[in-house]
Amino acid sequence: MLELCMLASGSSGNAVYIATEKTKILVDAGLSGRRLTAALAEIGADPTTLQALLISHDHNDHIYGAGVMSRRYRLPLYATEPTWKAAKNRLGKIAAENCRRLPLSGRLVIGDLLVETFPVPHDAAGPVGFVFRTENHAAALVTDLGYVTPYILDRLQQLDCIIVEANYDEEMLMNGPYPWPLKQRIKGNTGHLSNTLAAEMLLKILTPKTKHVILAHLSEHNNLPQLAYDTVYGLLAASGHKQGKEVFVQVAKRHTPSCYLRLA
Ligand SMILES: [Zn+2]
Ligand SMILES: [Zn+2]
Repeated sequence: MLELCMLASGSSGNAVYIATEKTKILVDAGLSGRRLTAALAEIGADPTTLQALLISHDHNDHIYGAGVMSRRYRLPLYATEPTWKAAKNRLGKIAAENCRRLPLSGRLVIGDLLVETFPVPHDAAGPVGFVFRTENHAAALVTDLGYVTPYILDRLQQLDCIIVEANYDEEMLMNGPYPWPLKQRIKGNTGHLSNTLAAEMLLKILTPKTKHVILAHLSEHNNLPQLAYDTVYGLLAASGHKQGKEVFVQVAKRHTPSCYLRLA
């Protein structure tokens, strides 16, 4: 069994809940401790039963409540060495036994959950993406990346579910309110994935096993949930992946828990 739920998604804060029969973890903690605790309660998850908190990279929308959560629930906090260095001052004091290292590229076993990490191109210190595997199921979390490397594609094998960033619509970004340098940063090789780039990545990795696609980390100013869905699903459907049959595409909500999945 592999359960997952997006607790919040986007530049105002990211967190994903992942659970197996024996293991419950949180991936990223970009909301306040109070809001994370409330989001967990909303999906019926008890924060005192969490075994680990994994951090993808040091941007505030991924670590904002990480220090509080680790202290409040005595959670081992896993981050890459560069992330630890970059985030240290913002995390506050973390108990020595809870300072754990995440490999930039490698694997880690937490209870009955196998976690695989791989580097992603993003303007942070040592950012990573994840694949979570149980005996029979696998889900990937790939957000905050400027482009998809062949190495990333290689890691995304035999997935039941993929959570992928669909950050911006190219036209909305270019015609939107952001200053030119910020537009360039978002579009750049260490920025974020557009709706189209997300779809192109999906077309390279979807297999008959992959039933669930969750579009995540949508920009508040440069994207719309329906537009992200239409763009990505339009490209998938054109290649024969039909909604509800071959694949089920959902868009993660920004502020409230969404996309609860239970792969049994
Ligand atoms: Zn982010
Ligand atoms: Zn980021």
